[in-house]
Amino acid sequence: MAQPSNSGGGVDNTFRKKFDREEYLQRARAREEKEAEAGKRTKSSGPPVQRKPLKHRDYEVDLESRLGKTQVVTPIAPLSQQAGYYCSVCECVVKDSANYLDHINGKKHQRALGMSMRSERATLEQVKDRFEVLKKRKDTGGFTEQDFDERILKQQQEEEERKRQRREKKKEKKKEKTVVEEEPEIDPDVAALMGFGGFGSSKK
Ligand SMILES: [Zn+2]
Repeated sequence: MAQPSNSGGGVDNTFRKKFDREEYLQRARAREEKEAEAGKRTKSSGPPVQRKPLKHRDYEVDLESRLGKTQVVTPIAPLSQQAGYYCSVCECVVKDSANYLDHINGKKHQRALGMSMRSERATLEQVKDRFEVLKKRKDTGGFTEQDFDERILKQQQEEEERKRQRREKKKEKKKEKTVVEEEPEIDPDVAALMGFGGFGSSKK
């Protein structure tokens, strides 16, 4: 191990310890007082946090996928399986669709996503571009060819997803059925003796 460098020679390295106690005590007290005063003001508002401006929602809000379904709800079930709309960002359940929309558009939720409630100020270019897009839409009677393609693609994807879900459900049902059918079968002779052998056995 290397020896500390201050161990050698006659160098006076004690100068650090010769500070004026009284002076520093006073300074510390003064600083504490200052901080206490400032703390009263800043504690309530907290440090300023830079949040991003609001932006478009880039997904469809799903309000209807569980409509008309029956589900057993127990108080010990995880929040995501409770009655109502579950917000995975804030980990809370909202009781109905209107309140859910209010929630995901609300301050608390946007804050959790790292956004302030301010929207970005659009530049001149952005406004011009937007006008161009809207103009093109008007010319082609509602929507552009690109819009049309996008819509068709989206519908196809949604249809695929629905089919997949249906297939999975069928699979699950089949599994349940096979489980039920695997119960021990009654011996046909015993069944005949007991008088419920079915249509075929009555001919014997
Ligand atoms: Zn939320």
